[in-house]
Amino acid sequence: MKRREFIAGALAFGAAPLMAAGPARGQADPFEDERFRTDYHVHLDNSSLEPVLELSRERHVKFGIVEHAGTKENIYPKVLSNDAELKAYLAMLAGKPVYKGVQAEWTDWMGCFSKEALAGLDYVITDAMTMPDKAGKRMKLWEATEDLGDAQAFMDRYVDWHVEIMTLEPIDIFVNLSWLPAPFADDYEALWTESRMTRIIDGLVKHGIAMEISSGFELPKLPLLHLAREAGLKFAFGTNGRYPKMGLLDYSMRLAKELALTREDMFTLDDGYVKAVERRSW
Ligand SMILES: [Zn+2]
Repeated sequence: MKRREFIAGALAFGAAPLMAAGPARGQADPFEDERFRTDYHVHLDNSSLEPVLELSRERHVKFGIVEHAGTKENIYPKVLSNDAELKAYLAMLAGKPVYKGVQAEWTDWMGCFSKEALAGLDYVITDAMTMPDKAGKRMKLWEATEDLGDAQAFMDRYVDWHVEIMTLEPIDIFVNLSWLPAPFADDYEALWTESRMTRIIDGLVKHGIAMEISSGFELPKLPLLHLAREAGLKFAFGTNGRYPKMGLLDYSMRLAKELALTREDMFTLDDGYVKAVERRSW
């Protein structure tokens, strides 16, 4: 799909076409602008907000804070599970120079909150790293001790799982994308075939979801990013950082330069962006 068709598709979803004037491809560095020097994937798991804000100032990177959100069956240092908890979190961030996000967990998180409470968020991210095991039970792939079976069969289920998440959930940015569990990580190039990458990208395009370029995991690799750029996807930078690792965007910036990304390739909450929780139904 060409950029023009993507823009038409984005319009059909009610998203703004994001045609703001910027330097032409290859000209001035678009990442001078703080709006594009943003780490949308910052966790407060091991620190309070204040020291994190100090890092944001020091590193000249704007932060998007993402608390985990979903049912209490999801085990994290903190999980927002109802409107009262979400509103307390939003109140804690109110007036601070950060974006207010959540990292959604499992596929039933939307049911924890009213639409009105969700509308208080700037954006929602998710990943596919918690996946059903063969019995359908949720499995954190990065902690999995069970046998994940044959790599090809796993990959097919994993790609299906990504597509299911995109289809069901109002997500703005898909993060940690193309990450593989330890037994398969060394075969990244072979396992992420073009057809698998294309299925993921097609899903993101269809639902108007941006792709994170993760400095935390140094993923996705260039071939996937190239295909995503050709498809007209928007990109967002992230670290999955816990204190003090947030805002270290070296990989994201380097790959953005290699891909010659411009402002119009970047996810932004400005310019009339319509949030997924406002344009999607579930
Ligand atoms: Zn995260």
